[in-house]
Amino acid sequence: MTFDARRARADFPIFNRRVNGKPLSYLDNAATTQKPGTVIKALTAYYERHNANIHRGVHTLAEEAERLVEESRAKAARFINAAKPENMVFTRNTTEAINLVAHGWARKHMKAGTEVLVTELEHHSNLVPWQLLARDRGVRLRQVPVDAQGRVTVEAARRTITPKTRLFAFSAMSNALGTLTPVKELVDVAHQNGSLALVDGAQRVPHLKTDVQAWGCDFLAFSGHKMLGPTGVGFLYGKPEVLETMDPFLGGGGMINEVWFERSTWGPVPQRFEAGTPAIADCAAFGAAVDYLEACGLEAVHAHEMALTAKLLEILRAEEGVTVYGPTDIAERGGVVSFNIAGVHPHDVGQLFDSEGVAVRVGHHCCQPLMRKLQTGGTARASVYLYNTEDDIEAFARGLKKVISFFKVGAKA
Ligand code: PMP
Repeated sequence: MTFDARRARADFPIFNRRVNGKPLSYLDNAATTQKPGTVIKALTAYYERHNANIHRGVHTLAEEAERLVEESRAKAARFINAAKPENMVFTRNTTEAINLVAHGWARKHMKAGTEVLVTELEHHSNLVPWQLLARDRGVRLRQVPVDAQGRVTVEAARRTITPKTRLFAFSAMSNALGTLTPVKELVDVAHQNGSLALVDGAQRVPHLKTDVQAWGCDFLAFSGHKMLGPTGVGFLYGKPEVLETMDPFLGGGGMINEVWFERSTWGPVPQRFEAGTPAIADCAAFGAAVDYLEACGLEAVHAHEMALTAKLLEILRAEEGVTVYGPTDIAERGGVVSFNIAGVHPHDVGQLFDSEGVAVRVGHHCCQPLMRKLQTGGTARASVYLYNTEDDIEAFARGLKKVISFFKVGAKA
């Protein structure tokens, strides 16, 4: 089944606007995605009809609000094939989900001298929390090196993990290079070593069918805003037996069982990790994003994205003076393409693309250590989603030509 991206595009009100007099070609989906009308309507419907605080409400609106939030939790669980909605903790985003593991699990279970293993691909969100843990608790932070194409191999992971490793935290797909990692095999490496496995799914969950039970991972973190949902909603999936052993990260209302003046007992999982009033409207509207993605069918979406990615790669590789980063085999990537143009600063690339209505991201992509390894300060990055069409790829090609002619790339001095 081929995916009708043009039809999908019509569901996204933002594409009615123009940017610099041109149709919007939004190729910054790895940063955040646009929202379909159904998600925007769910947000306004929440405020117009159901707005109330959740937790222990007995009036009609409070019950409706609670039901909407719990339906979204159940949809998120189904989307990643978690066994139960209770495996899903609402967080603000991937970053908060990883920090929850660092505070709730690692600070409780990891002693000085034990190790957290990450990879060289990691977003700062899956690096800095472990640096803080290392600083405060004497835990050692180590990394699996990537190969010249920015791939993480199972052999490299096996070579780097040690008997002291308690947690292997790795990205399922690199936001900077597009590399897909062998998730199941890496989870197995962690488990064979007696470690837990945390998967950063921020880039992968929105695009590829995810099955946490097949992976067997202990934790999975992802963000709603990268999968058509509102900002302010993310998830930590955790195996129930692991979540049960965790301490709360934030204390306050909604996460307790009983409170005395000098002490408290914790509520059940997942409420134990959801102190205070959450982003109720955003959590409620997230369900509409899952509905939309399920109606599209992730397999068809992914095939469409990879066809566009193949074209982006072809356009870039045809130009002299263009470096494309990441795996050369498209089967080892998702819909993210990072590149540089000889002698041109990525910011200038981004601005010239913008003048053509093309939104790409430039800079270090929150992966400074990886950029250092690639011996660059940053790259330009195009990333696709279900509403991108051939027109966007053509606009991208026009933008590229504009950069090349403006900076006379490849011209002899
Ligand atoms: N990990 C990866 C791989 C990412 O791409 C991102 C977002 N760029 C994050 C973590 C952080 O996501 P958020 O900003 O939604 O917390």
